[in-house]
Amino acid sequence: MPVISLEQLRETANLGFGKVFSPHMFIAYYDPERGWHDQRIQEYQPISMDPAAPIFHYAQSIFEGLKAYRRPDGEVQIFRAKENVARLNRSAQRMAMPLFDEEENLRALDALVNLDRDWVPSAPGCSLYLRPTMIADGCGLGASSAKRFIYFIICSPSGAYYSKGIAPVSIQIEEKYVRAVKGGTGQAKAAGNYAGSFKATADAVKRGFDQVLWLDGKENRYIEEVGAMNIFFVIEDRLVTPELCGSILPGVTRDSVITLARDFGIEVEERRIDVRELYEAHRHGALREVFGTGTAAVISPVSVLEYKGERIEINGAKIGKLSQRMYDHLSGIQRATIEDKYNWCSVVSRDAKY
Ligand SMILES: *Cc1c(COP(=O)(O)O)cnc(C)c1O
Repeated sequence: MPVISLEQLRETANLGFGKVFSPHMFIAYYDPERGWHDQRIQEYQPISMDPAAPIFHYAQSIFEGLKAYRRPDGEVQIFRAKENVARLNRSAQRMAMPLFDEEENLRALDALVNLDRDWVPSAPGCSLYLRPTMIADGCGLGASSAKRFIYFIICSPSGAYYSKGIAPVSIQIEEKYVRAVKGGTGQAKAAGNYAGSFKATADAVKRGFDQVLWLDGKENRYIEEVGAMNIFFVIEDRLVTPELCGSILPGVTRDSVITLARDFGIEVEERRIDVRELYEAHRHGALREVFGTGTAAVISPVSVLEYKGERIEINGAKIGKLSQRMYDHLSGIQRATIEDKYNWCSVVSRDAKY
């Protein structure tokens, strides 16, 4: 079992990401007669399912990712959980799955994190990653929506995404495969979106890149997003990011970065971005910074982009000023070392119980 003891947690130098888990999980079951029922917190344990359960055959599965952080006063807080439980329900709607009451979901998250609060690491850059997941249960190979579902939340003590300060990544702009199209499932956090993207990423890794940047599925020229991150460009003095056009995932970190940037007095544009516009901007020296945003890394600076064999280096492969400022500010709010004037964080009560 991948549950980590407190002793092991103290001794492990780098936890990595999503490899070890806290001792408890939340679980709930759904059927059409009873709705959600048998909700409880229990020991982390395997789930036994029928081999004909629809999750295995038709990928009816959605998930979320959010983090609990250790504050300097020793308390624990969760970053923007309301947004995540709301997005889970939007994903559920798209994937023909039942909604889970958002207030109740927040109570479940609080109770679970409260119970396993000692598993929230306090070292710099570390956090407790929370993974809410909903899957189709039951037995039957009919290719239509399942009737029974399981919702669970597991918690993974995670190490600093960057063990030696934020490290820039190199990205290949994908020409052959697409991730999503308007009207598809790209704006849902649906498990199948990932399975469909692994091949492209694996190929890019073989060619020496860290990630792929997806273009739109129709014209193959507008920038969409990176594997599990949204993407931002600093062009001249403006912060530019693809608009939420129906095929990209509306990231909570994306929204936080846009809010902070506007607060910093920076002009933000959410619009279509032609890949050729980027290369043109680079030729004129106007493309100053590129960074990805997502819960896991918060801010991930991009050092190299390659498209159709043409490779460009961003900002001398160094972290840009705005990328660094965003990282410092956002992670400061998450760790309660910078004032949280948007009320993004909620402190987990020591009385929280399910
Ligand atoms: C989760 C995810 C993101 C980032 O969303 P955050 O809420 O910022 O963590 C971006 N793109 C995809 C495809 C994702 O699954």
